Amino acid sequence: MSDTPRRPKKPETTLVVTASEDLGPGMVRLRFSSEDLGAFAASTQTDRYVKLVFETPQGPVLRTYTAVEPDLAAGTVTIDFVVHGTEGVAGPWARAAAPGDSIVARGPGGGYAPDLTADWHLFAGDESGLPAIRAALAALPAETIGYTLIEVPDAAHEQTLDAPAGVQVAWLHTDGTDVLLDAIKALPWPEGRVQAFVHGEAQTVMHGIRPYLFKERGLPRADVSISGYWRRGRTEETFRDWKKELAEAESGTA
Ligand SMILES: Cc1cc2nc3c(=O)[nH]c(=O)nc-3n(C[C@H](O)[C@H](O)[C@H](O)COP(=O)(O)OP(=O)(O)OC[C@H]3O[C@@H](n4cnc5c(N)ncnc54)[C@H](O)[C@@H]3O)c2cc1C
Repeated sequence: MSDTPRRPKKPETTLVVTASEDLGPGMVRLRFSSEDLGAFAASTQTDRYVKLVFETPQGPVLRTYTAVEPDLAAGTVTIDFVVHGTEGVAGPWARAAAPGDSIVARGPGGGYAPDLTADWHLFAGDESGLPAIRAALAALPAETIGYTLIEVPDAAHEQTLDAPAGVQVAWLHTDGTDVLLDAIKALPWPEGRVQAFVHGEAQTVMHGIRPYLFKERGLPRADVSISGYWRRGRTEETFRDWKKELAEAESGTA
């Protein structure tokens, strides 16, 4: 028998679709009800996420999604899904989902909440990071200053996004180049301590934006929440391998 302690399994709850709403050509919002969202009681992070368990002929497949506005008393939670064509498991499921459909969710996990002692905030990402950015913006006091940069394919994908008056919101249209990185580089950089939240396509985020924030801007690790939420050309399974290889290369164990 191995002495390695097992990681405790995350709590599971069944989510039942109660409504589906188009958020434009690229996203769909599903509202869910649940008989027990108790596992969310201790979750204070605005980027809280769940693992959705999809039953497929090959066995269960896990997909990670930001769980928005969990309301324990009402037993409701919302997830905004990027609809990215016919490939994949979660995107096509979400596009077709109708009231009464159900899915098991494991979690939540999470790692970020806005630090209200920061002098200013930077939010950047693509549509996959938008739900977590929206939740963070909603948690900020009215006097907060900063920037929000969201990369979308074109103007039709822009959404309503509430932010404090001092947090400028810009929608960037993908044109096949590193628009998000270039837009971050072009920002005026106010004095003081910035807290950054950057999540989206992994190559852009981890190989483009991350070195800029850490090496060129010298931000301390503790002030930055940054990760790839998906990787172009990879499913979530093969993206996990990509993340493992990156971590090993960076720790010198590869
Ligand atoms: C902590 C966390 C929170 C996340 N929150 C959200 C969220 O709230 N909403 C959300 O939509 N996504 C979110 N994601 C990203 C989501 O988990 C991935 O996009 C996931 O790969 C989608 O699964 P799938 O079954 O649809 O596609 P997969 O089977 O994983 O991939 C199939 C193909 O689709 C491509 N693909 C996957 N995602 C996208 C995309 N966003 N745009 C274009 N092509 C894509 C892949 O590169 C692959 O070629 C989050 C990820 C993490 C780690």
